[in-house]
Order: sequence, then structure tokens, then C-alpha cells
Amino acid sequence: MAYKFVDNYREKGARKKLVTQLRDDRKIEDKRVLEAIGRVPRHFFFDETFWNQAYKDIAFPIGEGQTISQPYTVAYQTQLLHVNEGDKVLEIGTGSGYQTCILLELGAKVYTIERQEKLFLRAKLFLSKMGYTAEFFCGDGSKGIPAHAPYDKILVTAGAPFVPDIMLKQLKIGGTMVIPVGDEKTQKMITVIRVSETDYERIELDTFRFVPLVGDQAW
Ligand code: SAM
Repeated sequence: MAYKFVDNYREKGARKKLVTQLRDDRKIEDKRVLEAIGRVPRHFFFDETFWNQAYKDIAFPIGEGQTISQPYTVAYQTQLLHVNEGDKVLEIGTGSGYQTCILLELGAKVYTIERQEKLFLRAKLFLSKMGYTAEFFCGDGSKGIPAHAPYDKILVTAGAPFVPDIMLKQLKIGGTMVIPVGDEKTQKMITVIRVSETDYERIELDTFRFVPLVGDQAW
């Protein structure tokens, strides 16, 4: 992929339109999330040939059989996470690194893990070129990253067959996890809040379609 950091009026205009669409048509209400989406040039994550696709509300291939998530999905998951300035956030499935940028724009300290080495290396290099700082890891994120736990928030950006227990234990008390859970075709978005040392509150929300979470505590 060619790295070309040009953000001209055409891309800025298309980004603004996407934010309006997410707010008015897709009913994303969190202003901070919408503003973050308005600040991150999504076309930077695309080869220049496909810049005209970058501000459509669609997922798009990023190589290795994976995708950059649909903007609506990014907005929806981020809104559920209620990221506060300074939150320690674990992201499972770095992919392109776009979602990582949105979390960083919200003031989070981000730990992000990707199992595919090529994507891990590309995102790590790419985000540093864009001026973003996060902690990047390559490996199986279905077990979380216990060495850096506990986290205020955990965001899983691939479809899991169940909520991994080992990941839940890495949440701070009062912390939130957002994870899509289901079969290979469709998943329900699940929010889990750790309410005490032993208790969790689980809320099941809308249906989505993610690439699979592959690993020890996954498919
Ligand atoms: N958040 C990403 C973005 O903004 O581009 C999109 C992520 S893509 C939908 C899901 C990613 O999860 C893929 O890159 C995939 O390789 C990765 N993945 C799947 N299983 C994983 C695992 N066990 N640990 C870490 N990453 C995993």
C-alpha cells in the first residue's frame, strides 16, 4: 500500500458528509465519537486508487483476508465503550489501525494486538508516521494481554464464539468490554460491565457481521 498523507478539500468534504450520515441516518449520538471520526483521515488507510471508497459506509479489504471495519461499526462499538480521557484500552484486532486512531483521538492509552504479522507491522509503522502513539503487540489476542492488565475498557473487533473468561478477568471493576459474539455468519454486539470482583452485567444488542476472532479462546 502506498502511503500518501494528503487530506484535501475533496476528502475533507466526504469525511464531513460521512459524519453527518452517521449522526442523522445511523443515529450515532456521541458527539466526541463523531468528532473523532471527523478528525481521522480514513482514506490514509486506503491505496490512493480506492480513496473514492474511503468515506462510504462500508468495510473494505486491507489484505490478508481482513477488512477495515465499516465506519458505522466503528462508531457503534466506540460509542458503547464510553472512552474517557486517560482510559487504558485494550483493542483486540488492530487490522488497519483505523479504530486504534479513533480510540487515541478520544484520549485513551491504547494497547492493541493483531495476530497477523503483516498487518501488525503495517499498522505500527503507519500510525507512527501519522503521529499516533500506541502500544502494538503481535499475537493471539483472544487471551487478552494479561501482562498489562487491568484495563478500563476492552474492545474486540472480530467475531467471537463466546466471551473469553480470561479477557473478562483483565477488566477493572467498573470496566466495560464490547465484543461481537455469535457464529461465523452473524454476531450480536455484547457489552459486559464488571460490577464487582466476581459479578458481570451482560447486555445483548444489535446484529453485525465480523471476520472471525481466531485463537486459543476463539474459533
Ligand atoms: N479494528 C480494525 C480496523 O479498524 O481496521 C478492523 C479489524 S478486522 C475487522 C479484525 C482483525 O482481527 C483482523 O485484522 C484479524 O486478523 C484480527 N484478529 C482475528 N483474531 C485475532 C486474535 N485472536 N488476536 C488478534 N487479532 C485477531
